[in-house]
Amino acid sequence: MTDSYFEEGTLVGVLTPEPIDRVLDYRAPQGGCFLGAFVEVPLGPRKVLGVVWGPGRGDWDAAKIRAIARVLDAAPMREELRVFLEKAGAYTLTPLSQMLRLATRVPGLSDPPSMRKIYRLGQAQPDRMTDARARVIATLVEYGGLGFTLKELADLAGVTASVVKGLAAQGAVVEIDTPRDAPFLPLDPERPGKPLTEDQQAAADALRLAVRSGRYGTTLLKGVTGSGKTEVYLEAVADCLRAGRQALVLLPEIALTSEFLHRVEARFGAKPAEWHSGVTMTERRRAWRMIGQGEAQLIVGARSALFLPFRDLGLIVVDEEHDSSYKQEEGALYNARDMTVLRASLNSAQVVLASATPSLESWANAQAGKYTRLDLRARFGAAVLPQMRAIDMRAENLPGQAWVSPTLQAEVRARLERGEQALLFLNRRGYAPVTLCRACGVQVGCDHCDARMVEHRFQKRLVCHQCGETKPLPETCPSCGVTGKMAAIGPGVERIAEEAARVFPDAKLAILSSDLFGSARALKAQIEEIACGQTDIIIGTQLVAKGHNFPRLTLVGVIDADLGLQGSDLRAAERTFQLMRQVSGRAGRAEAPGLALLQSFQPEHPVIRAILSGDEEGFWRAEAAEREATGMPPYGRLAGVIISGDDATAAFDLGTRLARNDGALRAVGAMVYGPAPAPIARVRGRHRVRLLVKAPKGAALQAAIAQWIAPIRQSAKLRLAVDIDPQSFY
Ligand code: ADP
Ligand code: ZN
Repeated sequence: MTDSYFEEGTLVGVLTPEPIDRVLDYRAPQGGCFLGAFVEVPLGPRKVLGVVWGPGRGDWDAAKIRAIARVLDAAPMREELRVFLEKAGAYTLTPLSQMLRLATRVPGLSDPPSMRKIYRLGQAQPDRMTDARARVIATLVEYGGLGFTLKELADLAGVTASVVKGLAAQGAVVEIDTPRDAPFLPLDPERPGKPLTEDQQAAADALRLAVRSGRYGTTLLKGVTGSGKTEVYLEAVADCLRAGRQALVLLPEIALTSEFLHRVEARFGAKPAEWHSGVTMTERRRAWRMIGQGEAQLIVGARSALFLPFRDLGLIVVDEEHDSSYKQEEGALYNARDMTVLRASLNSAQVVLASATPSLESWANAQAGKYTRLDLRARFGAAVLPQMRAIDMRAENLPGQAWVSPTLQAEVRARLERGEQALLFLNRRGYAPVTLCRACGVQVGCDHCDARMVEHRFQKRLVCHQCGETKPLPETCPSCGVTGKMAAIGPGVERIAEEAARVFPDAKLAILSSDLFGSARALKAQIEEIACGQTDIIIGTQLVAKGHNFPRLTLVGVIDADLGLQGSDLRAAERTFQLMRQVSGRAGRAEAPGLALLQSFQPEHPVIRAILSGDEEGFWRAEAAEREATGMPPYGRLAGVIISGDDATAAFDLGTRLARNDGALRAVGAMVYGPAPAPIARVRGRHRVRLLVKAPKGAALQAAIAQWIAPIRQSAKLRLAVDIDPQSFY
């Protein structure tokens, strides 16, 4: 027996995703089991999923220990993933059971493998050879012994399914039953990539060298939008595949994946596996299993793909690494970008963090020499960075209920006349952020949250952006009962679209806002329509700021450049800077030069000035100096503590008790601030109180916090969540 195999009857420890604080003892079943095996175990009256985590502890009444019910048909969880879950859990102070849940989000894990039909070359000759039939045969010959599903084969050969069926009826193609979870088509790294520019080649060579070292390392790949970062990191992917290892590319938006899939197909001859919320259950199951067996070489996915059971992960790319969607803000509070670095270090894998506007954390890590930094300075081809100018809104003559200044209007008109596209950007969904009663002055709020309801005119409803609660637009004031006095205050994208339709009656408009699309497919269709130039004016939220290619777009008008500067958020300046640069990067990607205009009431603000001058390093240095002086991240450490409960007083009392008993924190030089009502003091009917812990950079913060909160007994009535390295402070 080796340490990784347990014979029947041996005591083993099984971790389950159930909210239990320990690994439970069971007996290995008939036939024994391997360390890491996925199993089903009896728990009370139920059977639950579990993973064999190690030898049993033997501290349980031996007579009560039950046997593992069944070993599931899946590759055992590898040691590397078990260690990753333990370390990531320890870093984020998340219970191990909850970490396991992240790694077992796959449908049908306990089902037996089901079968499906695949198609291969048969012996017989068809009675009659048509072009379509010849293409099917040629495709099968080209791919050698590989079998395809009906859809794959029809798509590859460019024929309808009935052509394949017809050939099958004659034995020229054979139908074979195989397990449903078929391997993914092999990617071919030897196919030539695009010829790279000198700059790109140098960056690609550096990344390839890093990948070939077979060691851990992180590289920050910085380059303006359109500079060819994707082309460059695909070269690193190619070398990873050549080495026989798997590669993972994380993208912030599933809307981005379809463009990416096409590029991978063009480069490597087949599509990668996908892992995100838009993937069907069957495909998820297939992807999860094939990744575990090493039969998916490249995976493109959302942050949760980081918890997949890779067999040999050699490279992780985090594209748009500064994007806030990498931080999971509910349940296990982790930052996928940081956890990527952890997982790669456990795998001797390379990390590529790609961005036009890196997070200050990554910028500082590169400055400190922890990350290698590679810069792509120019945009590819003729495309040049857009010019940027502010429109001083104090000097514009704008009537009430209008937000597109005369200066911006004139520029849009000039684009329309030349047949080019313009983008009006406002990072606010819906029609109007506030609905006010002009009789009594009340603003309509959410019944469950401390937030104002946002009017969504398409849906004809008010929506709470915190909890999703909706209600019909009131005719009558809910507070004073007066009818006909309810007024929409301020703009959201829907309202800008209404204004644009009025000002540019002949232009074809499209709104891009995440809530306006019922499905990822509808959104994708809209984006493709815009990309082929069928739209004159795009009105969009931050959804448009991310990586889409709109070649005819030459003007970006930022409706409210001051929006992100307000508020007390530590990252307000950084976020505004990134968002504005990303949005302006949308303009002038192809041959026509771009112009970005920022409407601002404070064009002299340092952040606006840094954006306009294009002095990025200057902006980062100033921001870094400010954070360093105040001991803020990345030069110090923060942790948020959120206490929530039905009873505001009880939540506050607990906060006060924690703040008074801060010995464990002070022992490592940390300070606690608060309790204070959270900026959004009520969400889904639960009252929220926040504390903020600030510590010096080197402090053993997690251990101190664990010790500090250990005496707290949590309950459904009063919950406590710790947010290590918080990104948002609501
Ligand atoms: P980024 O990821 O930095 O935004 P991309 O890799 O998407 O940049 O490149 C922007 C556009 O330029 C894409 O359409 C890409 O195919 C094209 N491109 C970049 N580099 C090259 C190259 N060396 N040869 C041909 N096309 C390129
Ligand atoms: Zn609400």
